[in-house]
Amino acid sequence: MMTQTDGAAVEANRALGRRFFEEQDRLRGGPAGALCAPGYRAEIGGNPPMDFAGHEAFARAFYTAFDGIRHDIEEVFANMKGLLAAKKELNSRTPFVEWQFIVFKHNEHQMDKARQLAAEWGVDLLRFVAPGFQPESMDDRNLREKWMPKDPLFSERNPAEATERGYIYDRTCFYLYRSMSIYPGGGVTPCCFTHDRKQDFGDILNSTVAEIWNNHHYRSARMLFNNRLPQEERSQVVCDLCPIFHQARERSCSPNGRSFGTDHASHAGAHAE
Ligand code: SF4
Repeated sequence: MMTQTDGAAVEANRALGRRFFEEQDRLRGGPAGALCAPGYRAEIGGNPPMDFAGHEAFARAFYTAFDGIRHDIEEVFANMKGLLAAKKELNSRTPFVEWQFIVFKHNEHQMDKARQLAAEWGVDLLRFVAPGFQPESMDDRNLREKWMPKDPLFSERNPAEATERGYIYDRTCFYLYRSMSIYPGGGVTPCCFTHDRKQDFGDILNSTVAEIWNNHHYRSARMLFNNRLPQEERSQVVCDLCPIFHQARERSCSPNGRSFGTDHASHAGAHAE
């Protein structure tokens, strides 16, 4: 049960969080020095921790890449409601509007609220998903303790499984068929798990989405997940080394030789800010 003191601390943290991001939006970079303690460290997404100067450079690159962007969840909700209203008005079955809610320790108490809002607004699918760590951080107890929710449904990824059997989930990777990640610099990856430029599947500044979606990288990756007779020679892609999903085809590399690079700082975290 939450005490009055706990409640006040939660409210104070919320206010500080709001102010932190307001200041970043105002500075188009930041964070604001006055809000950061000495020895400030930022952990953004799965990127290595960065000091104040590192976060400042990162944030500047982020704001430069996304002109006009700001932290405003109300605007996100307003856009989603606008999209749903337009869809209803046109009596259209598309677009299929999916709200993905990543269940962390700090927001698992808001799942019921999300259910209520999604039903109210007519969202087609509300999907609750577990947080994903970079492979090299999967067995980091401190990180798990800090971010993982209490609900075992969203926190029971067993890192040992990745080492023992070479993968975590006994199913095909859905990212290769359902999503695409596009980074500020134009790089395209099959999922947000990979963020090394060298592992990109394409560049949106030079090709269309349709051209990239079924290019040789994508076909090579999808071949890992089916046993059909290959129609072409496949190339090695980042998915060869991925320990997340069970690959039907013999791996071309040991899962323990994973190499999800992190040498593209602006590319790396821009989506996680
Ligand atoms: S196999 Fe792994 S790296 Fe490739 S798209 Fe799926 S989750 Fe991402």
